[in-house]
Amino acid sequence: MLELSNINVYYGGVHALKNISLKIKEGEIVTLIGANGAGKSTTLKAISGMEKLRSGEIKFNGEDINSLNVPSIVKLGISHVPEGRRIFSKMSVMENLEMGAYIRDHKEDIKKDFENIFSLFPRLFERKSQMAGTLSGGEQQMLAIGRALMSRPKLILLDEPSMGLAPIIVKEIFSIIKDINKSGTTVLLVEQNANMALNVADRAYIIRNGEIEMEGNSKKILVDERLKKAYLEG
Ligand code: ATP
Repeated sequence: MLELSNINVYYGGVHALKNISLKIKEGEIVTLIGANGAGKSTTLKAISGMEKLRSGEIKFNGEDINSLNVPSIVKLGISHVPEGRRIFSKMSVMENLEMGAYIRDHKEDIKKDFENIFSLFPRLFERKSQMAGTLSGGEQQMLAIGRALMSRPKLILLDEPSMGLAPIIVKEIFSIIKDINKSGTTVLLVEQNANMALNVADRAYIIRNGEIEMEGNSKKILVDERLKKAYLEG
């Protein structure tokens, strides 16, 4: 479904992504894990068109998307939930969700999507008229994910959904990620919480200093003592 081949991204003189290659098959949950500053967010931004490549190629369902702008990439079926959520805090929950449907115009379908999202996140339904900035951190994360789902993505990119949330809320969010995947959306999950991410994902890529260091089955990585020492405990 998605294939990155040798992509390179620079911020001025900083070589943030160095020949990154990765593949995601339809239906998978793939996680990209690594330390602070390793290049996780930049990888997601490159996929969603927010950062331009210096070189390399990104294909989505066989089509080159490197040179497309963000709205065109959303239209093809890729939706990005950025780090820090970026919800519209002065707008209500409903209005935030409506913004996520901006590329679509079929009213009946949009109504159906509201229903689906509210069944996935009953808490958002209870708070649908509330101003988004007054929601709890977990609710804001739910809203950010709900808003991304309003564009009916085939692939959703999640940037550290667990950030700053209490363990019990993190569990809830990860269980929702599984539900989203079961309902047919492929997931690329960026996380610093490697244990949680490996538990939910099928496959994982480990990124360090802008390079992919290894790729493998998540559950194998979870039980590999050597890898655990190197990546998961410190
Ligand atoms: P974090 O979890 O801290 O966000 P990350 O793995 O997502 O880490 P990136 O945000 O992708 O890392 O950053 C990769 C590298 O690029 C870092 O060295 C970072 O300082 C640098 N970088 C990121 N954004 C910019 C920017 N807008 N301008 C300059 N350098 C940047």
